Amino acid sequence: MALEDNYGRIHRDLRISLTDHCNLRCTYCMPAEGVPWLPRQSLLSPEELMRIVRIGLNEGITEVRLTGGEPLLRPDVVEIVARIAALRRPDGSHPEVSITTNGIGLSKIAPALKDAGLTRVNISLDTLDAERFHRLTRRNRLADVIAGIDAAIAANLRPIKINAVPMREVNLDEVGALLDWCLARGLELRFIEQMPLDAGKIWDRRTMVTQAEMIELLSRDHELTPIQDRGAAPAERFLVDGGPGVVGIIASVTAPFCGACDRLRLTADGQLRSCLFARGESDLRGPLREGASDEELAQVFHTCLAGKLPGHGINEPGFLQPDRPMSAIGG
Ligand code: SAM
Ligand code: SF4
Repeated sequence: MALEDNYGRIHRDLRISLTDHCNLRCTYCMPAEGVPWLPRQSLLSPEELMRIVRIGLNEGITEVRLTGGEPLLRPDVVEIVARIAALRRPDGSHPEVSITTNGIGLSKIAPALKDAGLTRVNISLDTLDAERFHRLTRRNRLADVIAGIDAAIAANLRPIKINAVPMREVNLDEVGALLDWCLARGLELRFIEQMPLDAGKIWDRRTMVTQAEMIELLSRDHELTPIQDRGAAPAERFLVDGGPGVVGIIASVTAPFCGACDRLRLTADGQLRSCLFARGESDLRGPLREGASDEELAQVFHTCLAGKLPGHGINEPGFLQPDRPMSAIGG
């Protein structure tokens, strides 16, 4: 049975948070002191994770993205990639397995991830200035991130996308330099509108940088031509100066793409979420540990989708930020 919700959206993309821990403290994501971490015993074991993924594939998932927190902090991340990549869908094909990471530690394991079957990688990089990076992430790790990106290129983990959150008085003066840096390396840069998902609740609609502003800024130095075939992809993509370079903008706040959403999210403690902004969750861990059958666990996927709303509601009066921060949901 397809993973269809009440609005006809078919879900094929499962985003799994491998951990809520992180070695950075990006201001738009976490406060300096971090967040109350999930209890260790609540985290899914690799076996529990595999069972849930296998059931998801049977129900229609075709793509699995590993995220967090920082997924590379899981010592068993290569094993998890290999085990998911080896699973099969009902038609016999393997799922696509990708990862979203801050890049720290990637320099050591990029070739192993490639061999394990990783098909794509997104790496977050908001600035090329070491001092600024330190201020923004509260850690002095820019060199490690760049080494990780270089290793991903060397291991041919392509396509490699770079994620950046533009922020006023933080890195907005640098968006052109970031784009040039990515273009020179054949990397696709995607700017993400800052969303109200941070644990410290610093998001402010009045100061956030919008997609319209980004297009205006980037167009000062480059000709941007919209690419039409967007599908379920969140980014609106543009050819830069006629191509082949591409830049994307993910306008979750000012131009939501909820109507084409095909994503489900699994938290590190085994809760299924139909949306980043959902206020409810469907518990998979409890039934799994109490001996539920595959059919019963598959039903949790469908129950979760039955509660999926048509949109995230950020722009509606009365919008409430979810209790879980982005780092504990899996961005
Ligand atoms: N730690 C990994 C990383 O930074 O790539 C994976 C998890 S992180 C939550 C996933 C993505 O979410 C990153 O690209 C990050 O920049 C983005 N992100 C985090 N908080 C955000 C926010 N409040 N608004 C928009 N994007 C955010
Ligand atoms: Fe960590 Fe990623 Fe959040 Fe930054 S955005 S604090 S790297 S989880």
